[in-house]
Amino acid sequence: YDTSSIRALDLSHHMHPFADQQELVSEGGVRVITRGEGVYLWDSEGERLLDGMGGLWCINIGYGRKELVEAAARQMEELPYYNTFFKTTTPVAAELAAEIASISPNGLDRIFYSNSGSEANDTNIRLARLYWTRLGRPERKAIISRHNAYHGSSIGSGSLTGFDDMHDIAGVPIADVHHAPAPFWWRDGRGQTVEEHCAWALDRLEETILHVGPENVAAFIGEPVQGAGGVLTPPPGYWQGVQEICRRYDILLICDEVICGFGRTGQWFGSQTYAIEPDIITTAKGLSSGYLPISASVFGGRVASVLMDKPGRMNHGYTCSGHPVAAAVALENIRILKRERIVERVGEEIGPYFQARLRELLDHPLVGEVRGVGLMAAVELTRDKEGRTPIEPVSSLATSVRNLCFKTGLTTRAVRDSLVFSPPLVISKDEIDWLVKRLRDNLNQFVG
Ligand code: PLP
Repeated sequence: YDTSSIRALDLSHHMHPFADQQELVSEGGVRVITRGEGVYLWDSEGERLLDGMGGLWCINIGYGRKELVEAAARQMEELPYYNTFFKTTTPVAAELAAEIASISPNGLDRIFYSNSGSEANDTNIRLARLYWTRLGRPERKAIISRHNAYHGSSIGSGSLTGFDDMHDIAGVPIADVHHAPAPFWWRDGRGQTVEEHCAWALDRLEETILHVGPENVAAFIGEPVQGAGGVLTPPPGYWQGVQEICRRYDILLICDEVICGFGRTGQWFGSQTYAIEPDIITTAKGLSSGYLPISASVFGGRVASVLMDKPGRMNHGYTCSGHPVAAAVALENIRILKRERIVERVGEEIGPYFQARLRELLDHPLVGEVRGVGLMAAVELTRDKEGRTPIEPVSSLATSVRNLCFKTGLTTRAVRDSLVFSPPLVISKDEIDWLVKRLRDNLNQFVG
């Protein structure tokens, strides 16, 4: 590859997501990634990186699986596209729906396809509002989300997202979306025990619902573990509390499983890890291990009984809903996860190993907390272990460590003062050992 000419084309014509284009220009352009195999990536200059982020939390079965390539090629040849709008389906769209139903939590067994997590969450807003409208309660349209949540970046899902800097243009968040605090003990729970902090977060949630008026609320949405917010694992009892509040006020519970789904937390879904009984879940990313764009809203029970088991149509869908090539790849992906017992391995063996090895970093002077479950984790950096005061300016240290990791062959991501990890589920113990050592060595460069 001619790296400099690719960089030049990219800088001239390609606007990157979540980037300051002028910063990319001043840094001379972005790194060009050209190949992947297992947990590794290679760039255009032949440098190898261990992908500690699994792409964007999505390469669950690792790079380079030929079975997925073959499934895509077969489907491309046979039928590259047909829609599912007008009383037609394809074998793979139907088979994949049944396959997702076979593993979904809480008996959820109805599938609506979209192409991304953002679109699936837009779909979920519509599903929840349509549910109440069909029941003669159209005023129940508010959606309660949380601070530090990431649910996507379309206008609808970006409204559910709980980051202020994504609400910096007029009209976002859309009307009738509200955000309650979510537990983040390290940063927001100073002076509280974990239990007190959990109770505080649940009280704020209930307060938000009462402020909006429960009779106006359609649904609550939350990630079992907030991923892009900094791998914020819920304190013990938190989800039981959320569930009780939703039941008390008859509010639909949506779990956004876009990161947590397909084995990341050590079970098929984060809902199972935290004993949540959702009405709807959002899936994307790991559904196809990121090989092709596909997502699914999965529902059942009372939502299905109103929206599918009674007459009435939903005027919603995408040209590529249930795209046959993406569906064929997702189907093969789930079959590999099942056949190779990859989810069980995360839950029983490699997830606990990863968490234990990362927690050894707690003796490092710059590490305040290590959070995580399965193969997702955050290493919270601090210069004040006792007082937990945030680093000034926020994210400066984490970004510097992240950049050094990137330079020395390890991908990670800085979220405020933490570094987050979400490696492919097929990572080995030796690869984890290397990751932890590289991180420690790099952290050592910033002591003092
Ligand atoms: N929901 C969660 C929990 C996510 O982490 C993401 C993406 O990171 C999304 C939704 C949005 O998915 P997409 O980027 O495919 O639109």
